[in-house]
Amino acid sequence: MTICETDVVGWLCEEAAPLLEEGVGMGTMETMLDRVSLEGRRRALERLVQQACDRQTLNCPRCKQTLKVEEHHRARKVNSTFGLIRFERSYGFCSRCDQYVYPADVILGLQERAPASPRVQEICALTALRAPAGQVQKDVRRMTGIDLDPSSLHREARRQGERALALRDADVALTKTLDGVVELAARAPLPSAPFTMVLEIDAWNIRERDNWGLSEVLRAAGQETGRWHWVYTGTVFRLDQRGTTASGRPVIAERGYVATRSGIDGFQPQLYAEAIQRGLLQAEHVLILADGAIWIWNIAADRFKGASQRVDLYHVKEHLWTLAKELFGDTDKAKEWVTPFLNWLERRKDGALDVIQGLEGLRATLDQFTASQQDALEREIGYFEEHKDRMDYKTGKALGQPVGSGAVESTCSQFQRRFKLPGQFWSLAGDEAFLALATLHRNERWNQLFPHDLA
Ligand SMILES: [Zn+2]
Repeated sequence: MTICETDVVGWLCEEAAPLLEEGVGMGTMETMLDRVSLEGRRRALERLVQQACDRQTLNCPRCKQTLKVEEHHRARKVNSTFGLIRFERSYGFCSRCDQYVYPADVILGLQERAPASPRVQEICALTALRAPAGQVQKDVRRMTGIDLDPSSLHREARRQGERALALRDADVALTKTLDGVVELAARAPLPSAPFTMVLEIDAWNIRERDNWGLSEVLRAAGQETGRWHWVYTGTVFRLDQRGTTASGRPVIAERGYVATRSGIDGFQPQLYAEAIQRGLLQAEHVLILADGAIWIWNIAADRFKGASQRVDLYHVKEHLWTLAKELFGDTDKAKEWVTPFLNWLERRKDGALDVIQGLEGLRATLDQFTASQQDALEREIGYFEEHKDRMDYKTGKALGQPVGSGAVESTCSQFQRRFKLPGQFWSLAGDEAFLALATLHRNERWNQLFPHDLA
């Protein structure tokens, strides 16, 4: 007997209608249709999965070698978006890879000893990026009908984070060989005209709990239970892919992101891998923008030789304002004094040299100032000497380049909104996995983990 669509529609209405009270809204109808068809969908999925398992050849998915079959019909249960499904599949031993494999599990996208179907994996991963597991449980149930307790949701999201981490590490490994670099570079879209690549770098901190289980003891002793760790963050984009909104706000069409708490040594090759994938090797010109932190310029010198360097204009202006207030207090005199310095900096070709000269001119009047004011002056002369070659804002503006590192600062604050929620602690291993997951999502590579989107 063949069933036609009309029969299915008729059956669904017959099932749902008696359960709907008079006067219910469409939302209730939607929810009810979901519910009455749930068992049917669950059984359909179970059957399709079983058919796929039965068809699956017993070759190693990694090396294609025929497996030495250990057992047919080994059962497995998986939580899908339609509920629990059960199926049987075969497994065997691959002598070349020296491991037991379940080829059907690999093809289906199931992870070893993990209870979630690929769509459940994705739901956990996506919601964990938005908020802590405890806060999203109800939303997940309302939107998908599946009930996941916070610890399962967290565990599953963490597992997906580990997968994201493995993908990221694989990209970093490619930077270590010439063939690998060529492979990474081939992912960059071919440029139609010469372009400038911009790299912006910054850091923020994350709170981690190192002493699980000891919090009460430590708190009683008046000790800190968490520690702050730096998350090194970078963003990469092509200047020709930057546009403006109708209201004049700059937007960047395509951007790469890096965020890691694995230290500067971990950050550097990740930034390099991301930049290559976004067109570093095809770029006519490379510009690195950041605040004055020395570690950033060490990375620039080490990994991005030949790139121009620029200190964020607003940080530099802050330096001048701080000095003005140190010397003249929070007065009109301070404002009057600092204004020409700000103008030179922004509008003259060698503005930084004029600033230095101006500051050095103040030395003649040192007897007006206290010892600590004199120290402040010398410190700022040192700062401008150190960075003067990174302060050509006039040329930068003329070329349409950014003079501030606002793009990376907004990236940092977006990460912080998720990673620094009140009362939230991250574990040393867990936070790196979540950072990798969040970065994969931002980098538009989500499909590498979850290739089932049909849109
Ligand atoms: Zn194999």
